[in-house]
Amino acid sequence: MKLKSLVLTLTLLMAAGASYADTQVVAHRGYWKAPGVKQNAVGSAQNSLASYKKADALNIYGSEIDVWISTDGVVFVNHDRVFKGCEIQKSTSKECKKVVLDNGEKMPTLKNYLKTVKKGKCQLVCEIKTHKDPERQKACVSEVLRLVKKAGLEKRTDYIAFSWDACLQLKKEAPAGTEIYYLNGDKNPQEIKQAGLTGVDYEAKVMINKHPEWLQQFKDLGLKINIWTIDDAQTMRHYVDKGVDFITTNEPELCKTIVKK
Ligand code: MG
Repeated sequence: MKLKSLVLTLTLLMAAGASYADTQVVAHRGYWKAPGVKQNAVGSAQNSLASYKKADALNIYGSEIDVWISTDGVVFVNHDRVFKGCEIQKSTSKECKKVVLDNGEKMPTLKNYLKTVKKGKCQLVCEIKTHKDPERQKACVSEVLRLVKKAGLEKRTDYIAFSWDACLQLKKEAPAGTEIYYLNGDKNPQEIKQAGLTGVDYEAKVMINKHPEWLQQFKDLGLKINIWTIDDAQTMRHYVDKGVDFITTNEPELCKTIVKK
């Protein structure tokens, strides 16, 4: 009996260990809270080259960025629709290049960002922002794919988007096997499967409050699940126990300790 219960305990521990090991960490807008990423009183250097390097140094799965296209077709890396008075989708690249991040870096172009990614190992998780003009958004998707291909980073770049159209365009234009995740929380597992996407990157409240049944359904369909944005240990543990594939977080260092437990 003793041996039996020992074997059972070991089996359960191994099963738990396996599910823990399955969850990967994605740094939300890079690891911008890392020591050494200079911040000031009003903000911090999200989406900076430094935030990618810090995420890369953590040896985690991925580092997320957000991208917009300028009026003259240059893709820039920034989260905000209007950042320091500059609306990328309505500005020229010359105007965008003048914008300085809070850590002193110039707002990076995707072309420059990819040079830094090329030197690292961390996967790039690229969010195509929803542009006001659908044609500009289409141009953004195509230009991002062109730059990523040119940089030789097709296998090291995953895509996420709130725009369903952007996801479908990515599916059509990106090489087969490219990972594409939908963000907006309003498509059910069947719809994601039918569109041929890799999975979803849904806000935690969608999975907790609105559709707790979806988590298992996504898994049963072989779709991957990323959950955003989880910054506290308790919620991280909850999702690690649920066996999600990725947690997107502003606290990647903390999350790394939790997925490894
Ligand atoms: Mg984002």
